[in-house]
This record gives sequence, C-alpha cells and structure tokens, in this order.
Amino acid sequence: MSTIVILGAGISGHTAALVARRKLSKEHEVIVVSPNSNYQWVPSNIWVGVGLMKPDQVTFPLAPIYNKKGIKYIQAKAVSIYPEGAMKNQRAFVKAEYVVGDKKGEVEQVEYDYLINATGPKLNFDGTEGLGPHKFSQSVCTYGHADEAWKNLDASFKKLEQGEKQTFLIGTGHAMATCQGAAFEYALNIAFEINKRKLDHLAEIIWISNEYELGDFGMGGAYIKRGGYITPTKIFTESILHEYGIKWIKRAGVNKIEKGKAHYELLDGTYHEQEFDFAMLIPGFAGAGLKAFSHGNEDITSSVFAANGFMKVDADYTVKPYEEWKASDWPSIYQSTKYANVYAAGIAFAPPHGMSKPMQSPNGTKIFPTPPRTGMPSGVIGKIIAENIAHQIKSGNIKEHPHKASMAKMGAACIVSAGYGLRNGAAATMTVFPIVQDWEKYPKWGRDITYTVGEAGLAGHWIKLILHYMFMYKAKAYPFWWLIPE
Ligand SMILES: Cc1cc2nc3c(=O)[nH]c(=O)nc-3n(C[C@H](O)[C@H](O)[C@H](O)COP(=O)(O)OP(=O)(O)OC[C@H]3O[C@@H](n4cnc5c(N)ncnc54)[C@H](O)[C@@H]3O)c2cc1C
Repeated sequence: MSTIVILGAGISGHTAALVARRKLSKEHEVIVVSPNSNYQWVPSNIWVGVGLMKPDQVTFPLAPIYNKKGIKYIQAKAVSIYPEGAMKNQRAFVKAEYVVGDKKGEVEQVEYDYLINATGPKLNFDGTEGLGPHKFSQSVCTYGHADEAWKNLDASFKKLEQGEKQTFLIGTGHAMATCQGAAFEYALNIAFEINKRKLDHLAEIIWISNEYELGDFGMGGAYIKRGGYITPTKIFTESILHEYGIKWIKRAGVNKIEKGKAHYELLDGTYHEQEFDFAMLIPGFAGAGLKAFSHGNEDITSSVFAANGFMKVDADYTVKPYEEWKASDWPSIYQSTKYANVYAAGIAFAPPHGMSKPMQSPNGTKIFPTPPRTGMPSGVIGKIIAENIAHQIKSGNIKEHPHKASMAKMGAACIVSAGYGLRNGAAATMTVFPIVQDWEKYPKWGRDITYTVGEAGLAGHWIKLILHYMFMYKAKAYPFWWLIPE
C-alpha cells in the first residue's frame, strides 16, 4: 500500500488528487492537505471582481467530493516537510497545522510515500508597502479578495453615477510581479462596465505594468499570427487598450501605496506618483514558505527550496546570462532535485529563470515580470505527476516517468474576456506554442507561428464562459470528468 499526500487543492493539486485516485486502486491512500475548505476556479474571480458572479458561483466545498471519491481530506496548512523522517528509519512526513475546528492550532504528522507540493503562490502583499486588500489597494487573486474589490469598485461606480470623476489604476503592484494577464483582463472588464453605464467621460483607467513593452505578459512577449499577418503582442495589447480607452504606464516598479496614491520607479531610474480612487494591483508571488528538515532535524530548506520559496525540481538552475537561456532548462517531470518521491506542481515549482529579459534601473531596482504559470500548465503538471506516481506504484519501477510536460513543449491558451452573458462581451484570445520560447527550434519567431495566434471578438468570450462551466464540472468530478482536458 502506498500513501500519496498532496499539499494544496488548487488547480494543480486538485487535478493531481482526482487523477491519482482514479488511477490507483483503493488499497492506496490519497490524502489532500489544504487550508481552504473550498475549491475555487480562480480565473472566474475576474467576474466576481466586477460583480457579475458571486463567490459561490466560482467555488464549491471540497469535502463532499473527496468523501465520494475516497480521498482523505485534512483541512490544515502544511508547515514543514521531513522527507527522511525525523529520525533514522522513520517514514517521511509532513507537519500540518489545523486551521479550523476543535483541533485548530494542533499540528499533525501526515506520513507519505509520495508527496506532491501544489501549494501555489503566497500572495506577497508585504513585499510592497501599503499594498493589498487590508491596506490601500484591491486584489482579485482569491474569491474573497475579488468580492471585496467589487464592493469598492461599486462604490466608485456609484460616484461616477453621481457625476464625480474617478481614476482606476490596474496592473502590477511590485517591480517583479507576474500574472499580468489577470490584471489586464480585470482592466478590460472595468472599462466594459463603465462603458455599459455610459460613464466613460468621467472615468480615467490607467494600466500600470512592470513589462518593458506591453504584451510581454511575463513570457517575453510573442509574435502571433493574426488575420494572415504576424503581429508582436506589444501591438496587439496596445491596440486593445487603446480601443477600450485605457492609458498605460509601462516599465514601472510600484514600491509603495498610500491612500489614493501609488509610488513607482521607472526603468530609467526616475520616481513618480499616480493618484487613484480605485486600485487593483497584483502582488509579487513567493512560495508558500514550507520548511524542510533532515532526519537529524537539520534545517535543509535551502537545499529543497529556492530562495523565493518555490521547490527546486528537475530544471537547470545554473545562473547564466539571458542570451544563454534555453528551452531545455525547463523541467519536464517536476521531481525534487533532492528527494525522488517528492514533486512540485503548478506555481509551487521553481522556474529555472524568467522568460522576460531581466532589466534593472540605474538605482539597481530589478523591474521585469517573473514567469507566469497559468491554469492550463498547472493542471497538466498536476496530472502528469499523478500519472507518473501511479505508474511507479503499479509497475514497481520507481525510476520511470513515462509522462512529461515541459512548459517549453506545451502550448497555452489565454482568453482575456470582458463583459458577461451570451451577447454582451468580447475577448482577446491568444494561444502560444510553446509557452517558453525555443529560439533553437523556432529561430525566426521563438515559437511555432502556426499555433501562436491571436484574435479578438465575441467567440472568444463565449469560449471563456463555456470553459467556466466545463472546468467547474470537471473539478466537481462529475461523470466522465476526466474526458475534459486541463
Ligand atoms: C484573478 C486571476 C485570474 C486568472 N485567470 C487565468 C486564466 O484566465 N487562465 C489561466 O490559465 N490562468 C489564470 N490564472 C492563473 C491560475 O489561476 C493559476 O495558474 C492557478 O491557479 C495555479 O494553480 P496552483 O494549483 O499552482 O495554485 P492555486 O490554484 O493557487 O492553489 C494553491 C492551493 O494550495 C493551497 N495552499 C496554500 N498554502 C498551503 C499550505 N501551506 N499547505 C497546504 N495547502 C496550501 C491553497 O489553499 C490552494 O488550495 C489567473 C490567476 C488569477 C489570480
């Protein structure tokens, strides 16, 4: 009998849990440790943030699904891992702290044969003074944040309706934040809602970003095929912002937020301020902050995790200049560099380096986006890790990994949709293949231009809406859920 413990029940962890359970007979145990009793379909938080969906439309309780499927669920937060046990010949385990109920504050040791770390990002609001929902800006990174953002946005909309001018500042809240796509989509949705209310004349919407050029999206930008022409994402993105009447500030490292004011440094070293009535700014991301200990109780965190808290896996972490970055530096099986039975899925793995060119201001501030790990690769990674573990358990060959999923060999689709419903909406749809540029294989455009395409229109918006229902169906493990791709 083997025990697979999965930390985190987000897009990657939940996928891994369902796949592992489906692939393995009941004599093997699948355990999920996650602090939030709800699953959330994060991409639809954008609609919560503009009041078009309620939090209960993007969430559901995990326990009934896990009960039905025979997955053990522990509502707790993992704090440390002991991959060698705490003493010689002891089984490996995770220390998890209960976050609710009678056992709140108690720590349990959860033993494992295989561990999947799928703890996602720590939303590092503290990395920027004054940033975040409990301070002076909003977030849409969780359904709770998005709901709070909507309350504040609605208050601004009401002021517009009363004839008061309002400034909306949307973008990245840290010089090295990623997830531009989500913030960009939120900016378009706000513009759409203001336009719907015929209040454009009173609103100023400003996009602020750490990207060198717009359309970088943390993946170094892309060339996309659009209507028979090859267009850089810079032009694609600028035209969309222009169409929605959104101004922009690029190459900006936001370093402090006060009530109604954002402070930022530009890549040229100059310092500026931008006033706002409503701001939604994405924080920097870090790993969940797990610690690791050897059987001698020695702190080995730095050998298991990178400095940013993400787990080191089968990537090439050699520090090298941008010009020498290669697609093959990226991991394909997400196995810990130190422990063969430990894996990291989704955002929890440490990328070998960025995809965007590193940039630094004359003051020494690094201003560029770190690499995004969007939903699709996160789901795919969770799935292949579970499949590989199931293969090893069934075959008895603990070294084989028949399933691989390098982000340098995987495509991704990004749908930036504004509006809601079947008739009211439009979307910019972009697919890139592969996610990480491969200049050796595709010397001209860095990616396969046949599959790297972009379009704008109502159809993309329909797809986004359909995907919401499809992925909620899949996550609820309804009949034949596994037929729906990640
Ligand atoms: C607003 C928004 C919109 C987005 N839109 C899109 C989109 O349209 N398309 C797209 O592809 N991607 C989108 N993304 C990105 C996508 O949501 C992420 O790629 C995806 O959620 C990452 O999955 P994950 O499982 O790695 O992390 P998460 O989904 O964040 O899950 C992490 C899990 O770990 C749990 N956890 C945290 N700490 C611990 C701990 N210590 N112990 C145990 N469990 C822990 C959390 O509670 C959670 O269950 C969007 C992101 C945001 C914020």
